[in-house]
Amino acid sequence: MDNAGTKNETIIQVKHLDKVFGEEVKNQVLFDLNFEIKRGEFLSLIGPSGSGKSTLMNILGALERSTAGEVIVNGKNINNLNDKDLAEFRNQYLGFIFQFHYLFPEFTALENVLIPYYIKDFSRKPEIINKANKLLSLVELEGFENRKINKLSGGQQQRVAIARSFINDPQIILADEPTGALDTKTSRAIMTLMRKYNEETGATFIIVTHDREIASGTQRIVELVDGKIHKDFLPSEIGEATAWEELERHACVDCDTMKQQKQVKKDENFGKNKNDCKTCP
Ligand code: ADP
Ligand code: MG
Repeated sequence: MDNAGTKNETIIQVKHLDKVFGEEVKNQVLFDLNFEIKRGEFLSLIGPSGSGKSTLMNILGALERSTAGEVIVNGKNINNLNDKDLAEFRNQYLGFIFQFHYLFPEFTALENVLIPYYIKDFSRKPEIINKANKLLSLVELEGFENRKINKLSGGQQQRVAIARSFINDPQIILADEPTGALDTKTSRAIMTLMRKYNEETGATFIIVTHDREIASGTQRIVELVDGKIHKDFLPSEIGEATAWEELERHACVDCDTMKQQKQVKKDENFGKNKNDCKTCP
């Protein structure tokens, strides 16, 4: 696997990152973010809906440009790349697993997995077909290779999206709510798969989630609130119980946090509507 490099070296460095949407009416979404991510980290990004998680992921994934600041990936300042180089950079270094899979429904599972490869090389080499088949069995989809996407369940589609994100041996995998639409059992299975791949290949994972159980299974938890880093901790350092408490205070599981926000707000009516829960997506 092409994840050459030493563990513990910095793979992503973010310096004074700002993001502002809008020209006339400006909406600043990210405020002076500064952090580093080490190669091989398995990190979750949590935070209330609207806190800027997807915006940050899109900037890290070079799908969106920052307004100010620097994003250095593998020693390369991606702000300085032109659109063509950015596209190449994405294809070479990054794997994307997004909640709305962006799979091609009329294509088979195998064809979908191969798409990021075909973007750089359209020769249908037996090795690459073999590799795509292997990835599909890694995500436990053996026997479904030639099934069209629209004939697969949501969990199976998400597994195809995962296999696809691995095809070019990405050094960094960005997953935005990868289990958001899945039941608990399937979500756990998907997390186990990603963790296994992380351990085996040393690929770096950044996983957006609002599910504290998912977050608690990661090595490092970064919480964004209102476009700023509110918390950044390693559950292994602070202990499982404290980590769980930290998560309980902010991450949402079926509006559990609403009660706590209610206490904070001391507003009798707060929490009566699901929309009152600022943590729910
Ligand atoms: P999260 O993923 O944490 O829910 P987002 O990053 O999607 O948050 O959104 C953060 C804020 O940025 C929201 O207020 C949202 O409306 C705004 N936003 C996101 N994308 C755009 C866009 N393309 N144009 C304008 N505003 C946007
Ligand atoms: Mg989002």
